[in-house]
Amino acid sequence: MKQDNIRGLKSLICNVSYLISKSLKKMLKIKNLKAEINGKEILKGINLEIKAGEVHAIMGPNGSGKSTLSAVIAGNENFKVTEGEITYQGINLLELPVEERAAMGIFLGFQYPIEIPGVSMVNFIKTAVNEQRKVQGKDPLTAAQFLKLMREKKDLVEIGEKLTNRSVNEGFSGGEKKKNEIFQMAMLEPKLAILDETDSGLDIDALRIVANGVNKLKKPDTSTIVITHYQRLLDFIVPDIVHILYNGRIVKTAGKELALTLEEKGYDWIKEQVDGKK
Ligand code: ADP
Ligand code: MG
Repeated sequence: MKQDNIRGLKSLICNVSYLISKSLKKMLKIKNLKAEINGKEILKGINLEIKAGEVHAIMGPNGSGKSTLSAVIAGNENFKVTEGEITYQGINLLELPVEERAAMGIFLGFQYPIEIPGVSMVNFIKTAVNEQRKVQGKDPLTAAQFLKLMREKKDLVEIGEKLTNRSVNEGFSGGEKKKNEIFQMAMLEPKLAILDETDSGLDIDALRIVANGVNKLKKPDTSTIVITHYQRLLDFIVPDIVHILYNGRIVKTAGKELALTLEEKGYDWIKEQVDGKK
């Protein structure tokens, strides 16, 4: 009898830990996602699964829907989801507004970052960090705690004092905006980071800093989606999986070698393959 109880308990523990590890591993699951803007269908049935710890690259010709997909995951309300599901760590994401998604650890780096004159980077980030803590039921950071965190993360992403004291993105070069974006990401410690066209307008040094930041921030329980038209960035941020998005659908998924094939052959062969089947 006692033996049975112990055996029962052991199997219960096994089952529970299996379920926990399984649910933790699943970061993002997108099923048959369709979305439109101004009545025009842009995403035409996206299926995508990302596990914790993975880096996925989404590549594709301009106008394919890459930025739309990132905006829809982040919760941009300009796009209307007409069909499908997005679950994030087992939770239905489509029911949550943009701020809650951010507070739950989804970070979107913008392709075209906005400028906020008169608001210093420091204040902007402090507000964002404390907003996130509020939703998580945590007390705001004290000034000392915030400064300590800033120092840590500044070193990590190699951003200078000069940049953090200036107004958000005002007069920043393309490279500075991107560094700033990575710094914000470091401060917010997202679980799922989506970086859209992070390589556009970056010289090779800035590219390296951005990539280093992303690589250093990577943890076994975080995932990254790198959206890029060019292969260049993927020399520095090596993806586990590469997807090609074309005309609102993921038309090919493979390992990192796919990025090299695209570098060599461009996108025409993919377009021919997909359009030829119609
Ligand atoms: P990508 O990031 O792959 O270049 P986008 O997601 O930016 O592609 O755009 C996909 C398609 O959606 C394009 O045809 C684009 O013209 C269209 N689109 C994007 N934003 C809008 C908008 N605000 N109004 C109408 N069409 C839009
Ligand atoms: Mg885009």
